[in-house]
Amino acid sequence: MKTTGKVTGIISNLVTVEVDGPVAQNEICFISLGNSKLMAEVIKVTGKNAFVQVYESTRGLKKGNSVEFEGYMLEATLGPGLLSSNYDGLQNNLATMKGVFLERGEYTNPIDTEKEWEFKPIAKPGDKVEAAHWLGEVEEGWLPHKIMVPFSFKGEYTVKSVAQPGNYKVNDTIAVLTDDKGEDIPVTMIQKWPVKVAIGGYKEKPRPYKIMETGVRCIDTLNPIAEGGTGFIPGPFGCGKTVLQHAIAKQGEADVIIMAACGERANEVVEIFTEFPELIDARTGRKLMERTTIICNTSNMPVAAREASVYTAMTIGEYYRMMGLKVLLLADSTSRWAQALREMSNRMEELPGADAFPVDLPAIISSFYARAGLVTLYNGQTGSVTFIGTVSPAGGNLKEPVTESTKKAARCFYALNQSRADRKRYPAVDPIDSYSKYLEYPEIAEYLNNKVESGWVASVNKAKNIILRGKEAYEQINILGDDGVPLEYHMRYWKSELIDFIILQQDAFDPIDSSTPMERQKFMLNKVLEVCDAKVELENFDQITAHYKNIINIMRQMNYSEFKSEEFNKYLDQLNTIIRHDN
Ligand code: ADP
Ligand code: MG
Repeated sequence: MKTTGKVTGIISNLVTVEVDGPVAQNEICFISLGNSKLMAEVIKVTGKNAFVQVYESTRGLKKGNSVEFEGYMLEATLGPGLLSSNYDGLQNNLATMKGVFLERGEYTNPIDTEKEWEFKPIAKPGDKVEAAHWLGEVEEGWLPHKIMVPFSFKGEYTVKSVAQPGNYKVNDTIAVLTDDKGEDIPVTMIQKWPVKVAIGGYKEKPRPYKIMETGVRCIDTLNPIAEGGTGFIPGPFGCGKTVLQHAIAKQGEADVIIMAACGERANEVVEIFTEFPELIDARTGRKLMERTTIICNTSNMPVAAREASVYTAMTIGEYYRMMGLKVLLLADSTSRWAQALREMSNRMEELPGADAFPVDLPAIISSFYARAGLVTLYNGQTGSVTFIGTVSPAGGNLKEPVTESTKKAARCFYALNQSRADRKRYPAVDPIDSYSKYLEYPEIAEYLNNKVESGWVASVNKAKNIILRGKEAYEQINILGDDGVPLEYHMRYWKSELIDFIILQQDAFDPIDSSTPMERQKFMLNKVLEVCDAKVELENFDQITAHYKNIINIMRQMNYSEFKSEEFNKYLDQLNTIIRHDN
C-alpha cells in the first residue's frame, strides 16, 4: 500500500504534506492538481510532516490536495536510444515537446519504445551472471551498446535463455535469468536507476593512469587531464568557458559525450540545441550528436528539476561506462546547480553556510565529482567517466564557495582570466594559476614519457618555468622601465610570450589550429624550447623585441598550416635559419 498525504502548506515550490505512513528521504511523490499530477521529491521528513520539492510550478495548488508517495527515488531510464537525445533534468524528451517547455504535469517517455534494435547475444544459457554483466549488444551511434543484467539485481543468477540475434524493441524480453530460489526473471533492454546513487558493480576503481587527449594545447601539453579524471573551468561571463568545453567535446578522446547544460537564460540552452547537433565529429566525420546526450535546464525551470539534471547526466555517464566505453561528461555551469541547492536550502530555512549556500555544499560537490573515474569491469575491460564542469563565479571572484569547494573536489584547474580574455588571448586559461594534479602522479608521468617521448614531463615543467620567469621579468620591467632592467629580463619576457602565443593561444574557430594532435603538440613544444635555448647575440631591447616578434609570427603561421605540409615546412625552414644563424 502506498503512503498518502494531504498538502498543509506551500511556499513557492516547497510543499509540506501531512502523511499517513512511512516516507523515505528523496522518495518521489505526485500531488494531484485538477486533472494533472505534479511530480515532487521528498527533501526532509519530521514526524508526520514531509517537505517535498515540486519539479514544476505550484500555481493553483491548494491546502488539502492529495499526495501519493511512490516508494522509489528519482530514477533515470537507461537503455538504447539515450544517445542523440535531448532531455530536461527529469529526462523528459525535449524533442517530443513543443518548444523547450512541457505543459505542467506532462512527462514524456525518455526512450522510444517502438524503435527496433538489432540484438546480438553475448551470454549463453548456463552462464553465471551478476548485476552489470553483459547479456548482449545492439549498435547505437556506431557504438556497441551493451545490454546488461540490471544494476539492481543482487547475487548470482543463471542465464536460462538469451534472445536469438534479431530485431527487438526495448521492452521485449531479451534474456531470462534464474535466481538462487529457482525463480525465472525476464530482462528487457531497459532498466531504471536512482540518479543520486552511483552505479556500482565494477571490480575496482584504480587511480587514473592514462591521459585523455583533447587537442587543446593548454590542456594536453601543459596541464593534461586523465581518462576518468576530473577538472573544472572557472571564469567570469564571456571569458570562453562554453567555447572551451565545446572544443573538448568535439575533440576529446571519448566514445560518448554527455552535456549537462544548466544555463542562466533560455537562449543559452537554445544555443546548444541549435549548434551542437550541427557539429561534426573530427574523428569519424559523422555528426557528433550521434554519440551525445544533452541534458538541459534553464533557470526558469523549477529549482528541483535543475538540481536533478547533473545527477541524471552523471547516471547516464556511469551507465555507458559499465559498457567499457570512455564517457566525457561536461556540465556548464555547475554554479547554476549550486544556486538551485541554495534556493532549496533557503526555503527550508536551514542554517546557511558561506554566502547562504547549504552548509554541506563542499560535501555535495565532492561526492558528485567522486562519481567520475576509471573502472575495471568484471571481464577486465575498463570504462571511464571523465568529468569537466564550468563554474561561473560572480564577478570572477575565485574565493566564492562554489569555486573553493570545486577546487577541493577536482584534480585539474583551468582558470579563465578576464584580462587574457580582454586581450583576446584565447583560450583565456591562466598558465600560472592553472594546474593538473595528474602530472604529479608517477604512473601518469611514466605514461606520458612513454606515450609522447622520454623526458616529456621535464620539458613541460621547463616550459612552465619559462612562463613563470617571464611573468616575474614583466613585473620588473613594469616597475623599473624598459631601460631599468638587464637585457636578460627582456629575453625572459619574450620567451614566455613565445610560449603564450604558440602553445597557449589557440583559435577555436580555425579548422587547423582548433585541434592539435599530440604528435604535433610534441613537435611545437620542442621547437619552442629549442628557440628558448638558442644562444642569441642581441645588443639591445629593440633587437630582442624584433627577434622574438619575428619568430612568433613565423611559428603562428606554422600553427595555421597543415602539419608537415609544404607551407608548414616553408615556415619551419625560415625558423631553422634564424635559430641556426644565432648559434
Ligand atoms: P562564457 O561561456 O565563459 O560566458 P563563451 O565561451 O561564450 O564565454 O565565449 C565568449 C566569446 O569569447 C566567444 O563567443 C568567442 O568570441 C570568444 N572566444 C572564447 N574562446 C575562444 C577561442 N579559443 N578562440 C576564439 N575565440 C574565443
Ligand atoms: Mg557560457
